[in-house]
Amino acid sequence: MENIREVLKGLMSKHQLDTKFQDLMTPVYEDADVLSFCEAHKNELSADGVARSASKLYEYVQERDKYKRNEPTLMPGYQPILIVNNHMIEVSYRPSKKLLASEKQQAFNMRVKAVNMPKMIKKARFDDFFPDQDRQSALTAALNFTQAYESEPHQFHKGLYLTGSFGVGKTYLLGAIANELAAQGFESTLVHFPSFAVEMKNAIGENNLAEKLTLVKKAPILMLDDVGADSMSSWVRDEVLGVILEYRMQNELPTFFSSNFSMAQLETEHLQINQRGESEPLKAKRLMERIKFLATEVTMVGVNRRQN
Ligand code: ADP
Ligand code: MG
Repeated sequence: MENIREVLKGLMSKHQLDTKFQDLMTPVYEDADVLSFCEAHKNELSADGVARSASKLYEYVQERDKYKRNEPTLMPGYQPILIVNNHMIEVSYRPSKKLLASEKQQAFNMRVKAVNMPKMIKKARFDDFFPDQDRQSALTAALNFTQAYESEPHQFHKGLYLTGSFGVGKTYLLGAIANELAAQGFESTLVHFPSFAVEMKNAIGENNLAEKLTLVKKAPILMLDDVGADSMSSWVRDEVLGVILEYRMQNELPTFFSSNFSMAQLETEHLQINQRGESEPLKAKRLMERIKFLATEVTMVGVNRRQN
């Protein structure tokens, strides 16, 4: 094909009688992107091919303009581009950067499964974690875990048992660990344990209890948040917490905990006393052995960072 402008002009004169067609196509054939595309591909195109591509060129200009104006398009999230196929011009739709970014974000979000967790964990990042002296050891332990896990995901890595008073950032740090793992393609499940315990109790007699429990106990990486925050019935202790811990220990699955209690306090003040006020030290010891197998205790101290 020789002169693009001549060819396009010729096309217009052929349709001279059809003014509606002219009105529609004049801006298309004068469009800078269309002209430069035809110019760049003139060796692959014939005058006839361009003529028969009129509707495609029209579609391209329409959709491109809508795309630029952020208006709804035929293929939302996709950017129209012109291509040559078999000497004809066609419109192809290529995913926009925004779409790719949102798909990436979605995949990322899917990797952090949060059950009854506060929304703020979504934003938790190591980079924003205040590394003051009191929290440095917890941050270092968290970074050591993620590095070790990311380099050898099939090996057993001990999780962390974060303990410290209300508001020091235990939940935040769990969120930051989960988000770092998600960025590297690993899935973790964060569960607010007291709410989960209530859900399990309410599910007694329903047939989805086992299913819900299985999802949690088999999670590739599990974080049990706020263990010990509410008093636990023997049933929750043995049939929920006990079952989860047993499975994770047997299968060497990374498990994290956060608690206002230290490990020693959890054993004597929480796990040992049943709801009738009786002491069950052996049961508590067995559970603590499992927790200690799964996680290393790290104490977080510092100011309460809660604003409310
Ligand atoms: P804990 O679980 O120990 O009770 P949280 O993790 O809930 O404490 O943290 C308390 C509050 O402080 C939350 O609102 C959280 O968003 C905020 N927070 C904690 N650590 C940080 C941090 N490093 N950077 C910004 N906000 C933080
Ligand atoms: Mg918390």
